[in-house]
Amino acid sequence: MLDAIRGIEAFIVELPRETPYLGPLGPGETINRRGYLVRAGNRTLYPSTDRSLLVKVTTEEGLVGWGETYGIVAPLAVKELIADVIAPLLEGRDIAAPAALHDEMFDLQRVRGMSGGFFGDALAAVDIALWDVLGRRLGVPVSTLLGGARRERIPAYVSGLPVAGLAAKCDMALGFRDQGFAAQKFAAVVSHDGALAEMAALREVLGPEHRLMIDMHWRNTVPEAIALIGALARHDLAFAEAPIAPEDVEGLALVARAVAVPVAGGEEWRGTADWLPRLQARAIGIAQPEMARTGITGFLRAATLAQAFAVPLAPHATVGIGIFLAASLQAASTAWRCDWHEWQHSIWDATRRFVVSEMDCAAGFYSVPTGNGIGAEPADAVWDFVVG
Ligand code: MG
Repeated sequence: MLDAIRGIEAFIVELPRETPYLGPLGPGETINRRGYLVRAGNRTLYPSTDRSLLVKVTTEEGLVGWGETYGIVAPLAVKELIADVIAPLLEGRDIAAPAALHDEMFDLQRVRGMSGGFFGDALAAVDIALWDVLGRRLGVPVSTLLGGARRERIPAYVSGLPVAGLAAKCDMALGFRDQGFAAQKFAAVVSHDGALAEMAALREVLGPEHRLMIDMHWRNTVPEAIALIGALARHDLAFAEAPIAPEDVEGLALVARAVAVPVAGGEEWRGTADWLPRLQARAIGIAQPEMARTGITGFLRAATLAQAFAVPLAPHATVGIGIFLAASLQAASTAWRCDWHEWQHSIWDATRRFVVSEMDCAAGFYSVPTGNGIGAEPADAVWDFVVG
């Protein structure tokens, strides 16, 4: 045995934020007594703070590995699944086989319909921590364990322009362009001036070379999506993300066939059972695996399937202190093609403050973290924000 798992713990981190994720409250949007708001544009629940769940794996030899996943809603559910279901079964097991342990954990709840949801989040966080501790034990980065890094830098695109009003959005976008970013995505869910008007205004101020993408946040019907993407394409759209409901595989394929720009998707998909039918249907032209939902094992499998269909990656990045971002960069550095990686500017300050890592994002590029494992660990300052 290489080393045995001694314990697995989970911690809920909550960071206050002045403006909710995706921008100021829109018409009819309010924060409820539990701190949640429903975005009118896509009827989805979001917290008004930034929350994530950290996972710490310790070994008998005293090594520590870190993982992270979503804590967006009901984070206690994920914490309890780790404490009650996953940790007791993994204690005493060899750290040498993270993918095998991943599949063993998945098997536990398969017949109960828990192929995703909170159990999937718990599994993803533990999986990241297991790969991390294995890399640390062997003295190599996770990218080496996955077959080897193909790149040290990955182009970053700016995600969302979370300010109210067209002029303010254009100013914000110009600011990012001046920092060296060459690609930006705006969010239709908070396009209160209309997605087409925003696209036209952004193209006008940013010029013809800048890459512009839209996140359509699953809000359209198939004909609506086709019409809107067609109109946006006249302003040179680089990709259209999540145009329709993610469960409608055939609908997504219809959109993809009808438009001239790549459809991007994948942030809500987990394992091969989610990715394969969508790739086979040619429903996406850009794959966006989210490390906090897939873990490293699921990410690697998604990337392998995407390569088989010649679909480049542009991994998703979301709210968290940045442990899963480091893991995502590690895995993305090994992918056949990774054209971009999402960059959440509104949480980057937290990453710099709460994560110790060589990971960086500057002048439009991420630097893949160096060091063993995922190359990142929580800073001491984060413990002031652990709430459970
Ligand atoms: Mg998205």
